[in-house]
Amino acid sequence: MWKSTPYPYYNLRGKTARFLIICPAVGQIPSSHKYRIPCFTVSFAAMEFLTSPSQKFDLPKRIARLGELATNLWWTWQPEAVRVFGRLDYDLWERLGHNPIRLLKEIGRARLNQAAKDKEYLALYDALFEKFDAYFTKESWSQKAHPELKNPIAYFSMEFGLHETLPIYSGGLGVLAGDHLKESSDLGLPLIAVGFMYAQGYFSQRISEDGWQEALNNPLTFDHLPVALVTKDDKPVIIAIKFPDRNVNVQVWETRVGRVPLYLLDSNVEGNSDYDRLLTARLYWSDLDRRIMQEVLLGIGGVRMLRALGYAPDVWHMNEGHASFLTLERARELVAKGLTFADAAKKTLGQNVFTTHTPVPAGNDEFPLWLMDKYLATYWPELGITREEFMNVALHHQPHGETYSMPILALKLSGGSNGVSELHGEVSRDMWKFLWEDREVKDVPIDHVTNGVHTANWMARRLNILLEKYLGTNWYDNLDDHTLMEKINSIPDPELWGVRLHLKRKLAFYMRERVRDRWALGGFHPVQVVSSGVLINPYALTIGFARRFATYKRANLVLSDIDRLLDIINRPNMPVQIIFAGKAHPADEPGKQLIQKVYRTVKKAETGGRLVFLEDYDMNLARYLVQGVDVWMNTPRRPYEASGTSGMKAAINGVLNFSVLDGWWREAYNGTNGWSIGRDEPYESNEIQDAADAEDLYHKLEHEIIPMFYDRDPKEMSHEWIAHMKNTMKTSIPQFSTRRMVKQYVEKFYAPALKK
Ligand SMILES: *Cc1c(COP(=O)(O)O)cnc(C)c1O
Repeated sequence: MWKSTPYPYYNLRGKTARFLIICPAVGQIPSSHKYRIPCFTVSFAAMEFLTSPSQKFDLPKRIARLGELATNLWWTWQPEAVRVFGRLDYDLWERLGHNPIRLLKEIGRARLNQAAKDKEYLALYDALFEKFDAYFTKESWSQKAHPELKNPIAYFSMEFGLHETLPIYSGGLGVLAGDHLKESSDLGLPLIAVGFMYAQGYFSQRISEDGWQEALNNPLTFDHLPVALVTKDDKPVIIAIKFPDRNVNVQVWETRVGRVPLYLLDSNVEGNSDYDRLLTARLYWSDLDRRIMQEVLLGIGGVRMLRALGYAPDVWHMNEGHASFLTLERARELVAKGLTFADAAKKTLGQNVFTTHTPVPAGNDEFPLWLMDKYLATYWPELGITREEFMNVALHHQPHGETYSMPILALKLSGGSNGVSELHGEVSRDMWKFLWEDREVKDVPIDHVTNGVHTANWMARRLNILLEKYLGTNWYDNLDDHTLMEKINSIPDPELWGVRLHLKRKLAFYMRERVRDRWALGGFHPVQVVSSGVLINPYALTIGFARRFATYKRANLVLSDIDRLLDIINRPNMPVQIIFAGKAHPADEPGKQLIQKVYRTVKKAETGGRLVFLEDYDMNLARYLVQGVDVWMNTPRRPYEASGTSGMKAAINGVLNFSVLDGWWREAYNGTNGWSIGRDEPYESNEIQDAADAEDLYHKLEHEIIPMFYDRDPKEMSHEWIAHMKNTMKTSIPQFSTRRMVKQYVEKFYAPALKK
């Protein structure tokens, strides 16, 4: 059924790439294609293209360090570094999807020679490398505040969102993990990280004319990525994981996130069966066999990999339950030295930290017991316990039967656990209370650390320049200082508004260029061109709504009364625009139907092109959106949001949140920095909640948000709006930063773990 023909892979909107098709016989796919490969399943043959990287650049001596910069992800959160690459050739830089490794390899020696003689370019270059060198040598916060943290803190996560060119993330969980690494690097924390090198990355999204999501897989070319195979004596380091019927080997890739090394496991090695070689090809396989094997590779394989590389971490942090098997592997190490499992578990528990992100029981990872038998039957003997004892550690009695629960495993075998906002902490204590029958809900040992975002990664360059002017050039070093942030009041309104308008225009231009490419490609209906934002007015009130299309996020809440919405967006002299974006998991049918529903509404002529759906939400698009809209809207069904982070990215850019009082926004909202939707308490039923929230949403748009935005002085500024912008920056920059968050992890969990 699958035709498999090797093809040269072209990562992003290239102009000349040609593909041979490896998709099922759908018939219509052209043999030459400028965009991405329209197929969901990729043949085994794709694997042949994954070669180990030879990151050798042919660069003029004067600018030879560009190669060094391109292979450390530090550049991704330095706007000046982005310019140093971009200035070489902005068009190529955009076409290559901001990939500096490809840029340096493909730009050609002539242009590089020219740059090496260009005084202005060299000034930019020298200033940047001065910063680069200082970054790696200056004394860090961690060295000063916590000199006892010398040994590594190992951070495990199924996904890491570091940059759009390394698509090993699907959404918020991954972006949070990526931001955690960037901040740990900034703070000089001795953190090391473990995840997967997904050979096919996460899918990219196309929307059909009828609003149906198509998932395109992108086999990654490792040569184009900032990863290096970890070798010992010139041979790849191989970790063997034993399953009852076979061994699976994994190799390890390393990428550098500033000072933090991130190790990525990859099962695509010789000796493994074709099936096993694909185990780490994708995020979140829907079939349970692959899923459990991935989690064994991460938890058990991850610990063994760190040992093989010679690490002896003092703290082991699990970002969500996917990595929970690491608790067992750490105990097994002591059982091998003669301890009983009970003693070994007790002894290792103090150094395990678990962060849960899931407020709904069904969202948590659980495996049927037969599956545990199938993949772990040879493991519990190594722990010196029986099957029953093994299952009991994480047994979850459910109405549909007994399962093995990954969060229960982590909760029981960790010395510290936390949710990701105050409300989510409460919800989690209530949800897992049954594990501590003798305790009151408030005494259930699950704390909270509210999520944050990495400021430099998400703040617009222009805004950073403005803050340097009014808060001091070293404001970034003190960004969690609330008193310093008071100085935001001293920014003159026209300057802040000027930056806002610049960012809005930038978003509008970006949307237009994207559609131009897409249109030129052919096969795109004119109504899709309109739906992609070409009619957007960069000066009109613009609302952003971008996130994963999971049903609890209620993307259709704002569409629930379409006549009222049309009336709102089409008011004379006060137009309103809403930009939607987001992916649904390829196996999530209700999520895909939701996208279709939104898209069908967006396409209606009566919207005047003021409703927009942008394809392929990723970190790049997220950056444009959270910086370029006026209002960030979030309408989850309270209390399922856990935290949410996109609203924080918007807030630090002076974008006003208009959101349900859930997760982080419940902690940030103060009446002068944005707007709430609905009540800060549970509702009687989902129907009542939806109706009440929709009414509140429309009412506030009509009576508060639109009038405030369009209440203009003779210079076309709304001073009340700008005051709100300053307030939201003051509340969010210090409080909802990963600076505050990672410091809290250190104070609440990492440092105390050393004493346990
Ligand atoms: C920040 C981010 C998210 C998470 O946003 P939520 O507010 O948690 O929905 C998801 N995807 C991308 C690409 C992001 O940048």
